[in-house]
Amino acid sequence: MTNKIIDLRSDTVTKPSTEMLDKMFHAPLGDDVFGEDPSVNALQDFAVEMFGMEAALFCSSGTQTNQIGIKLHTQPADEVICDALSHVYLYEGGGIAANSGASVRLIQSERGLFTAEQVLQNINDDNVHFPHSSLVCIENTVNKGGGACWDYSELKAIKAVCTKNNLAFHLDGARLFNALVAKGESAKAYGELFDTISICLSKGLGAPVGSLLLGTKDHIYKAKRIRKAMGGGMRQAGIIAAAGLYALQNNIERLAEDHQKAKQVEQVLRNLSWVESIQPAETNILILKIRAHLEMSVLLNHLAAEGIKAISMGKHLMRFVFHLDQSMEDIVKLCEVLEGMKF
Ligand SMILES: *Cc1c(COP(=O)(O)O)cnc(C)c1O
Repeated sequence: MTNKIIDLRSDTVTKPSTEMLDKMFHAPLGDDVFGEDPSVNALQDFAVEMFGMEAALFCSSGTQTNQIGIKLHTQPADEVICDALSHVYLYEGGGIAANSGASVRLIQSERGLFTAEQVLQNINDDNVHFPHSSLVCIENTVNKGGGACWDYSELKAIKAVCTKNNLAFHLDGARLFNALVAKGESAKAYGELFDTISICLSKGLGAPVGSLLLGTKDHIYKAKRIRKAMGGGMRQAGIIAAAGLYALQNNIERLAEDHQKAKQVEQVLRNLSWVESIQPAETNILILKIRAHLEMSVLLNHLAAEGIKAISMGKHLMRFVFHLDQSMEDIVKLCEVLEGMKF
């Protein structure tokens, strides 16, 4: 038995591999605020090609790329339409209000997947009483929806509603590659649909830092100024961008392994007395509900004593996230520990 910690708290906890560190160590560098870092430029160009979009901007985090995206598409007092479970609303420190001065219209849905009809119902009439609806944000995969993936046909229907009503369409694609791998879809299909896309390199792709914002040349020109104003202009950022490029070139296909791990653990959890219910494993996230009489902290402490870290995701909800730093042996051990838990 190893005493390695099995960390299921997030896919952000991964460390760069030896190969990735080697790319970082040897990355050609320059000052990216002058636009002169060859490694940052290579990463941005690679993403542009991959999504078939005009331009990309390397930023420090997915929160930053989402917040810049939202600011590009709104004026103060506008309204952003998004799901009640969405990261842009729940987990970005109130950034929509602070950075864009916009209000938020929340849609209630199953697992963060709303419909074009719901979008239509939440667009305000053009009337001085109402905030001006200017943007729809969706998240794929949906983190708080247990890694749920959108149907591309529904996204196309939402895009049609956006076009007809003059709304911008932003994708929080922190885990977009998990959705692409799970559904056999292409990055270009998403590039066609959205005005701006945020992708994270530091989630399941395994880079230590960084996200990209993709959009038109005009959007990215403006985004650079907003990034600077937010204090996000980085100098020899190629040292981290090189890791991001390695991640995009090497770590996408393997996400299927993480989805397999989630499915394997889901099967085990379905038969356990302390589990009330579990959301179907679509990608690399599992959200399970523990029975109402149980204390979350007791279960988490029990797991911690076995070297397994997980987190609570709201009342009675526990989240497991699978990633490239967990081996198949780790998953076998995890299943044994879960099966041995009697509550
Ligand atoms: C992680 C995440 C982000 C960005 O988070 P950062 O920690 O700021 O990089 C955005 N959206 C979703 C859905 C996420 O899971």
